[in-house]
Amino acid sequence: MNRREILRASGLAAVAASLAACSAPESKGPANSGPRLQWKMITSWPRDFPGLGTGAAGLGALITEASAGRLTVKVYGAGELVPAFEVFDAVSRGVAEMGHSAAYYWKGKAAAAPFFCAVPFGLNAQEMNAWLYDGGGLELWRELYAPFNLLPFPAGNTGVQMAGWFNREIRSVRDLAGLKIRIPGIGGEVMARLGATPVNLPGAEIFTALQSGAIDATEWVGPYNDLAFGLHTVAKHYYYPGWQEPGPTLECMINQTAFAALPTDLQTLVSACCRAVNEVMLAEYTARNQDALDTLIREHGVDVRPLPPDVLGALRRASEQTLEAIAASDAMARRCYDSMRAFRAKAQAWHRISEEAFYQARG
Ligand code: CA
Repeated sequence: MNRREILRASGLAAVAASLAACSAPESKGPANSGPRLQWKMITSWPRDFPGLGTGAAGLGALITEASAGRLTVKVYGAGELVPAFEVFDAVSRGVAEMGHSAAYYWKGKAAAAPFFCAVPFGLNAQEMNAWLYDGGGLELWRELYAPFNLLPFPAGNTGVQMAGWFNREIRSVRDLAGLKIRIPGIGGEVMARLGATPVNLPGAEIFTALQSGAIDATEWVGPYNDLAFGLHTVAKHYYYPGWQEPGPTLECMINQTAFAALPTDLQTLVSACCRAVNEVMLAEYTARNQDALDTLIREHGVDVRPLPPDVLGALRRASEQTLEAIAASDAMARRCYDSMRAFRAKAQAWHRISEEAFYQARG
């Protein structure tokens, strides 16, 4: 795809046009003077994978287009320049100037990292944005990444995910014992508390692992993405809700040294482009998940069902214990957990008489 096609596919064409109009009004104007920079963006997603990969590609194309080519961003799929789970280190070291990934992959680098993607029974997409942009979350995230010479931006959200695909029915908590399940982040630690064996695999390796029996179950994203991977062909049961990822924020991380070297107008432009992608990606998932779910049910006969209430209750209790243990082990994780938890309580109180009351009233 060329740049214009990438922008159209990622829903960013209109954003590109309006930003370009602001930043480069005339081809010979001052906005087009100065050095022309070339950056690399590495990602944890298969190239052009719907939503995640196309969103990252769209971000690169948007920055290139809106800066009228003053900052050209070349985007790499997982494994093309570095493997999916080496994005953090590679951008930190300056192998690439930018990365698009998910913060919960980096819990081995910083215990608090998952708070800036998703924690079980945490914040939904609307609440994540509110906490990050207007509740102190982004400041904490930037403090956490600063020692790694990284500057993080929210850059996408999938909305509430699905609990995942299982090759056997989950009727009680006992059915989780011994289950080998692909589930990253803190959700995996919660599963381990209930006797399952969590594994973390990049998206591109899930299908084969489930097909070969190396794993018994997997969470990935939701119908739009899971259909694209064909997960319905290798597991029978599709469970909801995605307790483990209620509104995961995707991240654009930028090497601090590279960002500091940008002229201030390009810094502003990069920030605005990340914010645009953060919004547009959530719209894409919200618009497309139900069509994909209909296809899974009607064309592929997928068995879609909720996790039993007692299983969700056990997961919720184990999540609280896990989060408390993480907070007790690390001072920064404690600050992030306390901030997120206080914000969740406030958002929950308001949403009881706004979002939740409205959903019920709408019927
Ligand atoms: Ca997931």
